[in-house]
Amino acid sequence: MKFAPAELIQLINLANHLCPMCKVPLSNSHLSLRHSIVVPNLVDLIKTLDHDSKLSIANMKRNRTPIERSEIIKNAGFKVGEYINKIHSFLQIEKFKLKGDKRANS
Ligand SMILES: [Zn+2]
Repeated sequence: MKFAPAELIQLINLANHLCPMCKVPLSNSHLSLRHSIVVPNLVDLIKTLDHDSKLSIANMKRNRTPIERSEIIKNAGFKVGEYINKIHSFLQIEKFKLKGDKRANS
């Protein structure tokens, strides 16, 4: 992939974390099947980002503006960032719930 944002690495790393509820890796299939959190799989995500970057380049060419590599990476970063935020807020909520459960049991 030509225009990989740093966020992509963060997302890959997040998938190695364990689900606080189920203690299995936080894969996109686990998130969507068990927790209704829709995050694309990595292959699809990279395809989408690649497609987006091609569209941006086509637009820049059409408008006769210079190809801004940093702009393309920034936009890809926003998109990936949204998925990271989704997973982070899920983790926050689940951690909060787990704390609540512990308190209720003690
Ligand atoms: Zn889970």
